[in-house]
Amino acid sequence: MSSVDNDLYLNAAGQSALLQWAEDHRRAFPWRETRDPWQVLVSEVMLQQTQAARVVERFERFVERWPDPSCLALEPLAEVLRFWQGLGYPRRAKNLHLAAELIVSRFSGKVPSTIDDLLSLPGVGQYTARAVMVFAYEETVGVVDTNVGRLLARWSGSSMKPNQAQQVADALVAPSRSWEWNQGLFDLAATVCLKRGPRCASCPVQNWCVWSIDGCPEPDPAVGSAGVSATQARFAESDRDYRGRILRALEIPDQSETRPGRSTLAEEAGLSADLTRFDRLCLGLERDGLLTREGVSWRLGN
Ligand code: SF4
Repeated sequence: MSSVDNDLYLNAAGQSALLQWAEDHRRAFPWRETRDPWQVLVSEVMLQQTQAARVVERFERFVERWPDPSCLALEPLAEVLRFWQGLGYPRRAKNLHLAAELIVSRFSGKVPSTIDDLLSLPGVGQYTARAVMVFAYEETVGVVDTNVGRLLARWSGSSMKPNQAQQVADALVAPSRSWEWNQGLFDLAATVCLKRGPRCASCPVQNWCVWSIDGCPEPDPAVGSAGVSATQARFAESDRDYRGRILRALEIPDQSETRPGRSTLAEEAGLSADLTRFDRLCLGLERDGLLTREGVSWRLGN
């Protein structure tokens, strides 16, 4: 075990307790059954903004259809966008497609194995790069997402700045059990240390958790702490909602069919009464490379 500077929380005994609990309570997901870096990268991109339960079936179909970066790089972007429908945030599909092309051209088709090289791929930020390093290459680094950020703040009893949270997360990782440790943190945050109503009585690390030892006083140190996301804005009828509707309306199974014109498309997207907004969103989607103008209509991809 690595040593932890702050001996108030998560000493070696606490780390062992959490690792044991993690082994006994591990949730089963298909991306946990592989160390294939491409599959891990795909799963992490899908999980960025979509709940795990919704990702499972898509992930399995995706890696079956495109088992390595070169397969995806050969596929037209429009096909990948069609596959992505329903997962939301289609920019992720575009970035993944571009990342596959770069992996083929710059890294001989192999997903890079350093944080810096991973960060050079589109759509890969600090969290995703570190997740690939841990869950594919089993490197001893910590990954801080919104759930882990919540744990760290509660364990220490105070909010953290991003650098501090990353340093603490890195320091806490068990050197030879990085994969188990980080998955254990996710499972603990998802099933016990809930955002609202943490189940401290059944938590394996309660004896080392400063906030719980203090009686969970308000404010919760996790609120506003590094990595912990604020409450999501309302989705229905947001620009994001309508962007998704426009892309869905462009899904044409048979390529020989006539593409819908502007007014038809706007109507199918629920924006016939606000064509200014429709045009603005289409331009934004075009800027993002998700659709292309063709005469009076649009098509998926670039
Ligand atoms: Fe979370 Fe409570 Fe466990 Fe602390 S003791 S980590 S607040 S569930």
